[in-house]
Amino acid sequence: MTNKVYVEAASTLPVYDECDILVVGGGSAGHSAAIAAARAGAKNIILMERYGYMGGDVTGGYVIMVPKLSWYDKSFVRGLQEEWFTRLESIPDAVLGPRLDQIGATDPALINAWSAIHGCVSESAPHRLVRAVYFEPNQLKIEMDKMLLEEKDRIRVLYHSWGTKPIMEGNEVKGVIFESKEGRQAIFAKVVIDATGDGDIFRQTGAPFQTVADSNTRSSTTALVWRIGGINWDLFTEWKKTNPEASAALHKGIAEIAGFRCAPIASNRNDICWINNWHADKDCSKIEDLTQTEIKTRATMRDVLEYLREVCPVAFRNAYLYDIAPQLGARCSRRLQGEYVMTMKDFAFAPKFDDVIAWHSTICLINDCAPVEIPYRAILPKNVENLLCPGRHFSADDIAIDWLTLIPQCIGTGQAAGVAAAVAVMDGSRVRNVNIKKVQDILVEQDVPLPRNEKTDPSYLQCCEEHEYGLYTDAAKKARANPDGLDANFYYENVLPLYIKK
Ligand SMILES: Cc1cc2nc3c(=O)[nH]c(=O)nc-3n(C[C@H](O)[C@H](O)[C@H](O)COP(=O)(O)OP(=O)(O)OC[C@H]3O[C@@H](n4cnc5c(N)ncnc54)[C@H](O)[C@@H]3O)c2cc1C
Repeated sequence: MTNKVYVEAASTLPVYDECDILVVGGGSAGHSAAIAAARAGAKNIILMERYGYMGGDVTGGYVIMVPKLSWYDKSFVRGLQEEWFTRLESIPDAVLGPRLDQIGATDPALINAWSAIHGCVSESAPHRLVRAVYFEPNQLKIEMDKMLLEEKDRIRVLYHSWGTKPIMEGNEVKGVIFESKEGRQAIFAKVVIDATGDGDIFRQTGAPFQTVADSNTRSSTTALVWRIGGINWDLFTEWKKTNPEASAALHKGIAEIAGFRCAPIASNRNDICWINNWHADKDCSKIEDLTQTEIKTRATMRDVLEYLREVCPVAFRNAYLYDIAPQLGARCSRRLQGEYVMTMKDFAFAPKFDDVIAWHSTICLINDCAPVEIPYRAILPKNVENLLCPGRHFSADDIAIDWLTLIPQCIGTGQAAGVAAAVAVMDGSRVRNVNIKKVQDILVEQDVPLPRNEKTDPSYLQCCEEHEYGLYTDAAKKARANPDGLDANFYYENVLPLYIKK
């Protein structure tokens, strides 16, 4: 980039529309926000998306696996997340994963059957089935449109519209300027929900935020996912079991061939797998990093495919390039520094929040993936009014964000943002002072279990108490013995090895 600048002349923009709630970004967070707001009673919602479909990373980025929806025998992550799968279940081969009525099962035959599919069996003993679902992204695209069409009187969808700038009056967000084939236009709104994943809107409001700072975390990697067809995943699993050394060498070999970490992962079908990848030290809000990720991943696909055919012909003999995700996989870039910033302490101490909006089992091994409470303040920006920021850019520090940008947490914070915006608009209050009890009650009605809510099945809380909120792990005991030492070093020494060991 040069140091030169160009001063753009002020111009008069057409006002495209006015609404109560404007959601910018139709990924898992933004789509959930719009749907939840409509179901909570909001009548005048606009959902703006830069591409021509909903879902973001999950449909366009081919991130086709949702982990850790349950803990022991309870499905903690429900709401719109479970609704996706209930809706897709009737479509042949659209979803794969242990059924809700199987979670927590310890039957060795079931455990053995599901152990080939990553995430479907708990890491800790006694091994039990975990609700983890693999899905077909194009079927989900269709279903996400259908969900919006069911609310067509309340939600107007603008595809191919790129939100570029907040309209500010002092510290109040009043709407958003966007670009499209029709040119530059404005939309006014009572509440704006920034669900762009990269803080495209909040970064220009004066709300504090951070950028990716720790280049060693998962969040500081980008990806371009692609899929391989014509394989046999069952035979690949069998081959890995009977050839552990060759299997370890294969994983190293792919990374060497590609020049970055890559891994074949199961899909919703036995004859297709996806290649997840991790380009280290990249920021998905930087043009150069985005461009390099696209070019470098595509440049290596044929070689990786050839390598798999050679090393494991039993499973990959007839393998072919099935397809390449239409959009780059964005993990993290800008992160809100909101009214509450989630950290490792939220996993090691199981704090309880009066403003809890999601109570999710996660991929964090400090507490054996036990449910943690996510407070409303983590999607609420400091200093700025009329704005909420759910999804992968919500407020967490460098380490904790790695456990919180998963699809369930994006949906969960999105669903809560939508309900909160609806309640604020209907009550004539600000989102900052929204009646949080009302928000929580509506969320529970929308099938989101919340702790200490009288309508949530008490067996959820009993499950947490009986299993000590997962704080029986060595990592949790160490963390609790020295709360002030919970820094990046603690993570590298005590937590990261738990993942690498697997
Ligand atoms: C390669 C990869 C593997 C992953 N693996 C897993 C996994 O196995 N399981 C799991 O649960 N999670 C996984 N994740 C994380 C998870 O997929 C994402 O964090 C989550 O889907 C993000 O949802 P979101 O709605 O916050 O953001 P996004 O999905 O990024 O959605 C943002 C949406 O906003 C749109 N948008 C952006 N900017 C603008 C703008 N200015 N104007 C209008 N629209 C805009 C985008 O097009 C997009 O649709 C993975 C992520 C990646 C990249």
